[in-house]
Amino acid sequence: PPPPPAPEKQKAAPPDPPLPRQNSKTTPPSPPKVITDKNRILEFHRVGFLGEGGFARVYEVKDVRGTRHACKVVTKTSLKTKKAKTKLYAEIKIHRSLAHPNIVRFYECFEDDDNVYMTLELCHNGSLMDMLRRRRRFTEPEARFFLVQIIGACNYMHTHQVIHRDLKLGNLFLDSNMNIKVGDFGLAALIENPGERKKTICGTPNYIAPKCCLTQQTDTVLKSTPERRISPDARECITSTLTPDPNQRPTLLEIIASPFIDYGIVPPFIPISAHDAPPDFR
Ligand code: ADP
Repeated sequence: PPPPPAPEKQKAAPPDPPLPRQNSKTTPPSPPKVITDKNRILEFHRVGFLGEGGFARVYEVKDVRGTRHACKVVTKTSLKTKKAKTKLYAEIKIHRSLAHPNIVRFYECFEDDDNVYMTLELCHNGSLMDMLRRRRRFTEPEARFFLVQIIGACNYMHTHQVIHRDLKLGNLFLDSNMNIKVGDFGLAALIENPGERKKTICGTPNYIAPKCCLTQQTDTVLKSTPERRISPDARECITSTLTPDPNQRPTLLEIIASPFIDYGIVPPFIPISAHDAPPDFR
């Protein structure tokens, strides 16, 4: 091997160009300003960028009548493997079969030479993750309001044999009226046979179901939650939902009937101001 360069030489050398970021991926080219399907029946104008996830970029688009939607764009170059295609088809098949007020509505799916497009209901107020970052904590009435809507969406999915498998703050979007819209069906699965259990452990580690990580102490979650800020009913509700044995864990309906929800204030709506400051529900 060549000898290492002399230290003086290193000092004299011009500064290196910045190293590429680790794990940085090349940014795919933006989709066209006017997005159409191959037959030019559908037409959407790209008006903004909303965000990006593991394999898609999401844009705000306007249809010919001026209605705004979200448009999830997956490049065809990212769909070269059979696995990637199967995954996207599963997401489309499952998401388009669902219609519920608390689930992001799936409208159209089409393609051009470069991309696959999915038009979705636009969620104007970001995700619960964005909101929690700004607010740092929610009030218990807000938690009840969100929980009731999330449980409604889950109950609907389960009656349609769908399991989401990646429910987390970043996938719980807020519409213009601060209602929950469950989104991102990229990890969802269809339970085709009654009683069937999916064995793949998937999701996001912080939100994984208790039964999937039995080695972890479930009470670490509560230990990191300052007790004085949380009511005994809320505490009991959290503890019970973290029970590792699914047979011991409350069902969705039991959570709705729990003292936390049943005895507390469930506000009829959340004001937009809750985006940045705690609302007063008294
Ligand atoms: P991926 O499946 O690649 O993880 P997501 O569905 O999570 O992609 O979307 C990535 C980002 O795009 C989200 O974090 C969010 O910022 C934005 N986004 C996705 N869907 C919508 C929507 N319906 N309305 C508004 N923004 C959205």
